[in-house]
Amino acid sequence: MVMKVFKFGGASVKDAPSFANIIRVLKLFENQQLFIVISAMGKMTNAFEKLHSAYFDNINTMGIFDEIYTYHINIARELFLDSSETVFSGLENLFDEIKSKLNTPPSKNYNFEYDRLVCYGELLSSHILSCYLNKNGFSNCVVDARSIIRTDANYREARVDWEKTPLLVKAAFDSVLESGKKIAVSQGFIGATAHNYTTTLGREGSDFTAAVVAFSLKAEDVTIWKDVPGVLNADPKQFSDTKKIDRLSYLDAIELAYYGATVIHPKTIKPLENAKIPLYVKSFLNPEGTGTVIEHFFTEKKPIPCFIFKTNQILISIQPRDFSFIAEQNISNIFQSLARYNIKANLMQNSAVSFSVCTDYDNYKTLRLIEELKKDFKVYYNTDLELVTIRHYNDSTIAKVVDGKKVLLEQKSRNTAQMILKRIKQL
Ligand code: ASP
Ligand code: MG
Repeated sequence: MVMKVFKFGGASVKDAPSFANIIRVLKLFENQQLFIVISAMGKMTNAFEKLHSAYFDNINTMGIFDEIYTYHINIARELFLDSSETVFSGLENLFDEIKSKLNTPPSKNYNFEYDRLVCYGELLSSHILSCYLNKNGFSNCVVDARSIIRTDANYREARVDWEKTPLLVKAAFDSVLESGKKIAVSQGFIGATAHNYTTTLGREGSDFTAAVVAFSLKAEDVTIWKDVPGVLNADPKQFSDTKKIDRLSYLDAIELAYYGATVIHPKTIKPLENAKIPLYVKSFLNPEGTGTVIEHFFTEKKPIPCFIFKTNQILISIQPRDFSFIAEQNISNIFQSLARYNIKANLMQNSAVSFSVCTDYDNYKTLRLIEELKKDFKVYYNTDLELVTIRHYNDSTIAKVVDGKKVLLEQKSRNTAQMILKRIKQL
């Protein structure tokens, strides 16, 4: 079965012209078997997060509900001029479900309730997209991701069941094809447990859904349609002269995502690498463009340097109180504390009597972590730092990023250099 998986993110369905643009993209793939994975529209997942917080804290949810409602209905009105079209009854049904949830008091489980509510971002967008594609001659079926992406009950960071999911995805796509259609539309980011409780796969998880589906269907390739021409060697918001990378190995892609490049969700690469399925990152504004392909290849040529900047970092140095060595037992205790607060170590280094760790700074979690560590260790820290990672670095690229900054810590391996930097205050 030669089929492709497409993923459209929030920016590609943020307003009515963006939906029209999806048609332009699909016209380049007429008669192709497609599995389309869609994100919530625009910034709707953030809006649903706000709705959920208010709901959970028992604060009035009407204002934020109305915002979400109006946003979707207005876009649907622009896309469908006839108000009797089925898209509207479907939307009203979904909004009725949301309202009835909001009118029932939440359980005590914050993450469980989050998944039950935030999933509606994707349920709404997939419904609108499916109706819009039908209307424009791209006959399709909606496949509810909760019936195919089977996960554990780790709400908000659910892990995929790799035995059940591929079978469910395949059966669902087979039945779409049997019904005479070539296109399935499904939601990214969401799944369900064996007991049918809705789960989510972590923020920005739709890329990962696309990879899971592609793995399950042995797709020819996956394309993530974005508002950038492909994978760039740095974030254009942070770096003036960026270059598009035409071809990237799975290994480089996974390293870049791991160090914090936001272009692809870090979990996306593994299933694709395992099944050797190429991943394209292309612009929905220029669908004919070549984009970037991430695939298995080897070259003697040194790839161009890539830069990843992470701001708002904290460097914590931890020392045993009695000047004893940093040993396995201490390190294991430190890691247990990090894990308890769900804090990821972005960089680590240890010397005889001290262990340093750089993490994202979080008002709530970081200070609690420090308090906990202080019970057993002397703790020093520096905030407001920047962590710069350069993959395929050389001396001049390092000189460029450290210019005007103080280097607090530097680590180099064969392909990757990482520096923790403090901006030197201009007088
Ligand atoms: N809508 C979800 C989010 O914004 C998932 C995604 O877009 O990938 O995090
Ligand atoms: Mg997104």
